[in-house]
Order: sequence, then structure tokens, then C-alpha cells
Amino acid sequence: MICQRCKADVPEEEIVDHGAQQVCEDCAMTLMSPAKACDPWAVKMASSSIGSKEDAIKTLQEPERSLYNLVISKGRVPREEIAEKLGIENSKLERAFSVLRHMELLRGEKRADNGVDILPFDK
Ligand SMILES: [Zn+2]
Repeated sequence: MICQRCKADVPEEEIVDHGAQQVCEDCAMTLMSPAKACDPWAVKMASSSIGSKEDAIKTLQEPERSLYNLVISKGRVPREEIAEKLGIENSKLERAFSVLRHMELLRGEKRADNGVDILPFDK
């Protein structure tokens, strides 16, 4: 039988039903593996491999470090002011914030006016 994902020719007994697809065992493993960026389990594994929060903070690079320090020193910063304050592009800021959120160092909080404030994760 032909695996519908990698097109390998495998014996019928090694074919696994994955939803509507019939795939080989290797592909089934890949499809079921939880290593997606937004998966909470993967995030937990990633942060535990870094060690403590203090260690994680020490490994921060720019612009994550500047963003983190700014939010920690202010306690709460409107998201739309950060790019200007740090002098970086919005796209870079988005990426930096996404990293820090996955590391559980910062989080966003919606304001009453529909804007977003960035604040320390545990606040
Ligand atoms: Zn396959």
C-alpha cells in the first residue's frame, strides 16, 4: 500500500488510519507528535529545559531583553507605545513578545478601549 503522506510503499499491516488519510507508521507518529510551537506541553518542555526563570532571563537577547526590562520597570506598558519606546519595528516587537509569552515572562491584557497592555506574566 502507498502512504498518502510520504508516498512510501509499505506493507498493508503498517498502514495506519489517520483521519481520512491512510499513512505509514512513521507519518502517523509525525502527525500525532505534539511538537507544535503553540502547544502548551511543548512550551512547558522548552521552558523546563532552560531551567529556572532567572536562567531564562539571563539567556534573553535583544530585543527581547529590552522589551522585558521595559515592562518590568513600568509594570504595565500599552502595546502600541512599546515599538516607539524601544525604537524597533512592530514586526520585531511582535516576534519578541511572542517569545517572551511562550517563556511565560510576559503576557498581554486587553484594555477597556480594546487596546492591549503588556505586563509581567505573573502579575
Ligand atoms: Zn508515510
